[in-house]
Amino acid sequence: MKKNTKLASAGRKLQYTQGVVNPVVQRASTVVFDSVADMHEAIKERGNRTLFYGRRGTNTHYALQDAITELENGAGCALYPSGAAAISQSLLSFLKAGDHLLMVDTAYEPTRDLCDKILAGLGISTTYYDPMIGAGVKALIQENTKVLFLESPGSITMEVQDVPALVQVAKENGLITMLDNTYGNGWHYRPLDHGVDISIQAATKYIVGHSDVMMGVAVANEEYWPTLREHSYLLGQCTSADDAYLALRGLRTMPVRLQQHEKSALTVANWLAEHPLVDHVRHPALPSNPGHEYFKRDFDGSNGLFSFVMKSGNQKAINRFLDSLHHFKMGFSWGGYESLVTANITMAALRTTTGWEHGPIIRLHIGLEDVEDLLADLEQALKVYESHL
Ligand SMILES: *Cc1c(COP(=O)(O)O)cnc(C)c1O
Repeated sequence: MKKNTKLASAGRKLQYTQGVVNPVVQRASTVVFDSVADMHEAIKERGNRTLFYGRRGTNTHYALQDAITELENGAGCALYPSGAAAISQSLLSFLKAGDHLLMVDTAYEPTRDLCDKILAGLGISTTYYDPMIGAGVKALIQENTKVLFLESPGSITMEVQDVPALVQVAKENGLITMLDNTYGNGWHYRPLDHGVDISIQAATKYIVGHSDVMMGVAVANEEYWPTLREHSYLLGQCTSADDAYLALRGLRTMPVRLQQHEKSALTVANWLAEHPLVDHVRHPALPSNPGHEYFKRDFDGSNGLFSFVMKSGNQKAINRFLDSLHHFKMGFSWGGYESLVTANITMAALRTTTGWEHGPIIRLHIGLEDVEDLLADLEQALKVYESHL
């Protein structure tokens, strides 16, 4: 079966759908049993797509979990109330006091804050490594290093990592590898196929796709799935059946949405690359992007998210640029049907190992609007920017 066919049928067991196309929305805390024998059976099978207690999920959750497990070629998928919860829970499931974590320097900002503000307090130390370090990461491994965490492409600056090289070093040194795969999202990139142990996503982004649900997922391989599942359950992680339903609904049309996001984003990225105010574009599919060669080797495609770096700028020019855009709304998320923009005058505070020696960086999410309207909007806003330099 090819990818689209697989996704159309993923997670559609009769147990979940009861004969219609989509799963039932089964809201539950309590599950009731008719007999002691039934109850004991449920206890034995709990966590194995058998109704036990609401926090273990219902048929709605199982349908989404199965579909994402199939998408990412894993052994199982845990659901969380946000992408941030999926990240914190994956780390907390495997790290303990005295352990050391290798975290990519281009991590999503709350991931970095989790390490500095919470993990540090629990006695877990973090070293931030250069996303382009490749096999050189070996030199950073300590006696107590337990987890190697990747995010590829990196948040905002979009560096694509040499995952096979990093995974090989991790395997040789007994480290668990986790990758924030929100960008690759199982459709364009499947980390477990490349030897990563746990693939994490903010389903909030392209899976949900409509900017109306917070949801996180983590898919683990055979070795780590039982611990991830059990520890997530013990730390109380669960999602509502309604949100699980919406995420699965979003997932069904994700491939066609991604096609349009990809096409329009490439048009805008190539247009910006030629703009006289722009130094270079950070889009994984463009040669100007760090790690572009790994992107070409490992990914099936790109999406609507990318950044561009200005030759020069100041806070006033950035602010006027942002205020003069009509179709790009200011917002921190991405992956919905609408275009968004954020900007950083300097990335230095968020890059403690690699630094940032370029001009201001602006991140766009290219939505499903007509690309001509988006280009015209950027063109007039860049004129405003120029007038404030
Ligand atoms: C948005 C995002 C997250 C966090 O997801 P939430 O659902 O907002 O908690 C994690 N990683 C990356 C790369 C993201 O873009």
